[in-house]
Amino acid sequence: MDGREGTVVGRSWSLWSLPRGALGYVLSVDLLALLAVAAAATTRQPTTRHDWVVLAVLLACAALHLVFSRWIERARRDATGLPHLDLCSIWIFAGSLLLPPPLVGVLVVVLYAHRWWVVGRWDPFRPPHRGVFTAAMMLLVALAANVVATTTGLRESLAAGHLEGPWDLLGLMGAGSVYWTVNTALVAGVIVLTTGARTNLFGGPLDNLLEAAQLSLAFFVALAVAWWPGFALPMVVAAVALHRTVLIHQLELAARTDAKTGLLNAEAWHLQARVELNRTRQRGDALGLLMIDVDHFKGINDTHGHQTGDEVLRSIADVIRESVRRGDSVGRFGGEEFVVLLPGAGRDESMAIAERARCRVGLLGTGAGPVRGLTVSVGVAVWPDVPEDTVEGLLAAADGALYQAKRLGRDQSRAAWSHQAPSVRSDQGG
Ligand code: GH3
Ligand code: MG
Ligand code: MG
Repeated sequence: MDGREGTVVGRSWSLWSLPRGALGYVLSVDLLALLAVAAAATTRQPTTRHDWVVLAVLLACAALHLVFSRWIERARRDATGLPHLDLCSIWIFAGSLLLPPPLVGVLVVVLYAHRWWVVGRWDPFRPPHRGVFTAAMMLLVALAANVVATTTGLRESLAAGHLEGPWDLLGLMGAGSVYWTVNTALVAGVIVLTTGARTNLFGGPLDNLLEAAQLSLAFFVALAVAWWPGFALPMVVAAVALHRTVLIHQLELAARTDAKTGLLNAEAWHLQARVELNRTRQRGDALGLLMIDVDHFKGINDTHGHQTGDEVLRSIADVIRESVRRGDSVGRFGGEEFVVLLPGAGRDESMAIAERARCRVGLLGTGAGPVRGLTVSVGVAVWPDVPEDTVEGLLAAADGALYQAKRLGRDQSRAAWSHQAPSVRSDQGG
C-alpha cells in the first residue's frame, strides 16, 4: 500500500520538517522494526538449505518483476505523476508463508534495498528515510503474518507439501488478515500524522481489492514454491500483467479526473451529462443540473494567496461531494466553478440539494479555517422544466440562473424556471 501512502504524503517528505507527532511515529516504527528483526534473528526455528533456496527464488522473482515493470512505472510517472506502485506483497506474503522469521527479515530488507537502488535512480527526489520507513513497515507486516502462518501450522503444512483443506485455509485467511490489518494501520497512522486527514484512511475498495489480489497470488506462489521453487517463475508474468492492468485503470481515472479536487473534469462531466440526459429522455424522468460558483473568490486569492485559494477549492469540492446523493456526478468546470448532475431530481429535490450544498459551504467559513464568510451562489436548471434539449442548453439555463443569483446579492440559489423573486435565500444551516 506504499502507493496510497506516497500519494497522500507526497514527494517532499523531508524527515526533520515532519510534524513532531509524525517524526516520533516514523522513528518508532523504524525502531520497532529493528527490535522485531533482532527478535527474529534469535528465534530458535532452524534455517535449512531449502529455505535459502526459497529465499533466493523469491528475491529473483521480485527483481524480475521490478525489471519487467520498469517501463510500466515510467509510463505512470510521465503520464500521471503518481508515485511508484508497490506490488511487492506478492513476494513478501509468499515469504511470510514459507520462510523462518530470520529469512523473512532478509527477504524484506534485500527486496527493498534493491527497489531503492532501482527506483531511487528514477526518482532522485525520494528522500532515503522514506525507503527506510517503508521497509520498516513491511518488516513488521511480514513478521506479523509469519507468526500467524507458523502458529496455525500453515507454514509446516506447506513445507511438508501436505495441506489440510479447511484448517490451512483458515490459517491462510488469518495470516492474510493480519498482513492487511498491520499494513493498513501503519499506513493510516502516517497519513493522519503527516496530513491530518481523517477520511479514506483504510484505502478505497479498489486499493483493497488490489491488496487482496496480491495476497491471493502470493498464496499460489507459496504453493508453487512448496512444490518446487522454480515453479514461482511463471508468477512473474501474472505479477507484471496485474501491474499493467492497474496502470491502465489509473490512466483512465486520471484522464477523467480534475487533479486539484479529485472531481470529474469538464470533459468527463460533459460525457456523463450527455449519457444521463439521453437516459432521462427515454425514461421520461427529470434531470437536475446545478452550477455552483464561489463568491468573490478572487478576493480570497488576493488576500490569502493562491495556495490557500487552492485549499479552499478542495474543501468546497469535498463539501459539494458530501452534499449530493449517491450516483450524482460532480465536476469542476475549471476555475472556481462546479457543476452537479442530479439524475431523477425534479424542481424541489434539485433546489433542496442546491441549498444543502450552499449552506454547508457557508459553514466552512465559520470555523477555524483561514477564510471567513465563504459563500457560493448556485444556478439550478431542471429538464424538462426548461425547454432546452441539450446539455449545453441546460448549462446555459443554469448559468443564467447563476447570474441572477450573483446579481441579487450572492450566497443564494436561483432557479432557471423562475425569474421573479429570489427563489431561495435561507440562512439556516444544512
Ligand atoms: P464572483 O463572486 O462574481 O464570482 O467573483 P469572483 O472573484 O469569484 O469571480 P472572478 O471570475 O472575478 O474570479 C475568479 C478567480 O478565480 C480568478 C482566478 O484567479 C481564480 N482561480 C481560477 N482558478 C483557480 C485555481 O485553480 N486556484 C486558485 N487559487 N484560484 C483560481
Ligand atoms: Mg466566483
Ligand atoms: Mg466564476
